[in-house]
Amino acid sequence: MRPTGKLHLGHLVGALENWVALQHEFNNYHLIADYHALTTNLDTSAIYQNTIDMLIDWLASGLDPVGSPMFRQSQIKEHAELHLIFSMLITAARLERNPAVKEQVRDLNIESVSYGHLGYPVLQAADILLYKGELVPVGEDQVPHVEITREIARRFNNQYKSVFPEPEPKLTKFARLPGLDGMDKKMSKSGGNTILLSDSPGEIQKKMRTAVTDPLKIRKNDPGRPEICLVYTYHQKFNPGEAEQVATDCRSGALGCVECKKRVAVRIADTLAPFREKRAHYESHLEEVKDILTDGEERARTVARQTMAEVHEVMKLG
Ligand code: ADP
Repeated sequence: MRPTGKLHLGHLVGALENWVALQHEFNNYHLIADYHALTTNLDTSAIYQNTIDMLIDWLASGLDPVGSPMFRQSQIKEHAELHLIFSMLITAARLERNPAVKEQVRDLNIESVSYGHLGYPVLQAADILLYKGELVPVGEDQVPHVEITREIARRFNNQYKSVFPEPEPKLTKFARLPGLDGMDKKMSKSGGNTILLSDSPGEIQKKMRTAVTDPLKIRKNDPGRPEICLVYTYHQKFNPGEAEQVATDCRSGALGCVECKKRVAVRIADTLAPFREKRAHYESHLEEVKDILTDGEERARTVARQTMAEVHEVMKLG
């Protein structure tokens, strides 16, 4: 994940929940992609604070730093090194076809994409393969990048020797959570349409009031269409026990949007209550957070160095 500050519900349901679920079954590696943050923002003045904020969100979500290291990309030089080698194994034309970068360039009105931004899936391939990642738990938008990683791994293994696995993406049930501004918009920091994991119950209620609902349901008793309503998607995720009844009452006109939004906001706030408590603990124990990072970086570096030694060996470099 890029350190863009406090995390939102999209991060939680699209990726973080899987990280937590998989951490005891696999050796997880949790990467703070600070070089990747430069692709869309060259101003690094807030990057340290954003890193700490994100790390606290990870810890508050239940990730165990003892089991799985948490580390910054910039502190392990092997990421940059493997990126350089990988960048020879893929054509510029292939990267230009990547739908995820195209979408980003369009959404952020980028006039002319930088060399590093175009190549960020190659850096991502290095991030994954340095640790010989087999499963990549990400949101739907990242699937094309995992495909590029597979292609690079195949190319390297064929050209030299079989060093890397061909990783698979691992999606959650809600791999593309919509933002508050419409079903067709992904919840995203740059979209300004988020609910943060750290928002208070009051803030969640306030934000939920702005959520876009079925435009044909104007008055409370008008029949609605839950299947096109993002608030209903939130009910499915955060209020599964009542979601079916919510859909029935929306369709019949028995349930108005104001009440519907209030109910789901309460559920979201309840789900996040233990999270807020843990967050408060880490906010007042920042030394603990920094130690977790130092320890994670040492452990990740050891693995990354081993992989690079193997790469150099099979390439007859050095
Ligand atoms: P952002 O889009 O807010 O800048 P990132 O690109 O850093 O977030 O994404 C970090 C991870 O969270 C990725 O695996 C991404 O797929 C996932 N993710 C981000 N937003 C969503 C969303 N709205 N729904 C599902 N997954 C998401």
